[in-house]
Amino acid sequence: MFSRHVTKDISAYCQGELPAESSRQFAEHIISCAKCRREFEEIKLGTRFAEQLPQVSAPETLWNEIEASLGAARQSSAVVVNRWSQTRVAAIAAVLLVVGGLGVWWFWGRGFKNNFQRASWQVQSLDGAPRIGTKRIAGKGELGVGEWLETDGNSRAEIAVSSIGRVNIDENTRVRLVETAPTEHRLELARGKLSATIWAPPRLFFVDTPSAVAADLGCSYTLEVKDDGAGVLRVTTGWVSLELKDRESMVPATAACETRPGVGPGTPYFEDAPATFLKALETVDFGNDAAAKAEALNVMLTQARTRDTLTLWHLLARVAGNDRARVYDKIATFVPPPDGVTREGVLKLDQTMLDRWKDSLEASWFVNNTIVPKPVAEAYWRVKNGVVRRMKQ
Ligand SMILES: [Zn+2]
Repeated sequence: MFSRHVTKDISAYCQGELPAESSRQFAEHIISCAKCRREFEEIKLGTRFAEQLPQVSAPETLWNEIEASLGAARQSSAVVVNRWSQTRVAAIAAVLLVVGGLGVWWFWGRGFKNNFQRASWQVQSLDGAPRIGTKRIAGKGELGVGEWLETDGNSRAEIAVSSIGRVNIDENTRVRLVETAPTEHRLELARGKLSATIWAPPRLFFVDTPSAVAADLGCSYTLEVKDDGAGVLRVTTGWVSLELKDRESMVPATAACETRPGVGPGTPYFEDAPATFLKALETVDFGNDAAAKAEALNVMLTQARTRDTLTLWHLLARVAGNDRARVYDKIATFVPPPDGVTREGVLKLDQTMLDRWKDSLEASWFVNNTIVPKPVAEAYWRVKNGVVRRMKQ
C-alpha cells in the first residue's frame, strides 16, 4: 500500500518546503504508517515546544567556568585527573549539550514560526462586507495570524484554509486565525456559525470554541457557538472529534454533539433518535440533579435503538457503578461483545476492549445510506490508537 517511508522528508514537510504533490503523498503515508507517524509526531511536538521557548543568554560566569575547566582538563591531561574535576567537566559538558540543544531548537523554532506567522488565509466575501480587524472587505481579503474576521447580520464569507479545505462563515460570526502551519491549522470560533470542509489527513485542522476543541478527521461539518459559549457540532461526512481535557466525543456523519462551558463536550447522538431519548440525554449530560439524571438514564435505556449504541458506547465511560453495568447490558442486547471482550473488562473501561466493541457496533451506526468513507474512519482510529498508546507509555 505504501512503497517507501517518508522520515527523511519530515523536516521539509514541517517547514512547508515539499512540493504540493509530495506534501500530499507525505500526509497520506503518515496516516497509514505508524513508524513514520511516530517520528512525525515527535518532531512536530519538538517544533511546537521550540516555539514557546524564550531567548536567554548564558550567564558570563558559565563561560568562565567552562574555560577554567577546559584549561584544567588540558593541564591535567598528562597526569591523573582527580575525580572532582572529572565530574565537574562532565557536568559542564552536559550543561553545554542542553544549552546547545535548546539553542538549536530555539533557532529552528524561530525560523519555523517566522515563516508561518507571515502566512495568511484568503478570505472571499459571499455577502455584504465582512470585517477583518477594523477593515471592511468587499471581494477578497487576507486573514493574518492573530486577526479576527467578523460578519454582521448581512454579511458572509468563505475562507480558504491553506490548501487543505474551505470554511464558510455565516452571518453574525466572529472567528480568529490562531495558527497556520503544515502541522497544524487552527481557528477560534468565539460566536456564530461556520461550515468546514476539510480534505487534509486527520488532526491537522482544529477549531477552538469556548467549551471544546473540534478536531477534524477528514470530513465536513458545521459548528455553532451561542452567546453563552454553548456550542453544537453537526457532522455531514467523515468524523469529527470534540475534545476538552480528558473528555472526548467521537462524532460520525449524521450525528451531533452539544458542548457547554464548564462541562465540555456532551455525548454524541444521532439526530433521528426519539425526542424523549434526546431530551433525557441532555439531562444526563448537563443536568445537576442526581435523581433527575438517574430517571433520565432509565428513559434512555428504554428508548434506545440499535443505532443509539453510538451514544450508549460513549456513556460507558461517563457513568459509573451499576449505571455502567446497565448501559453495558443494554448495548449487549443489540450487539453482543465480540470474542475477547468481557463484561468485566468493559466495566473496568479496558480501552482495547472498548475499541474492539466499538468496531463491531459501527456497522449499525451507518445505516440509511449514510456514506462514511471507511478509509478515513480507519485512518483516524489508527492515529487515535497510536496517540492513546503513546500517552499510556
Ligand atoms: Zn513509513
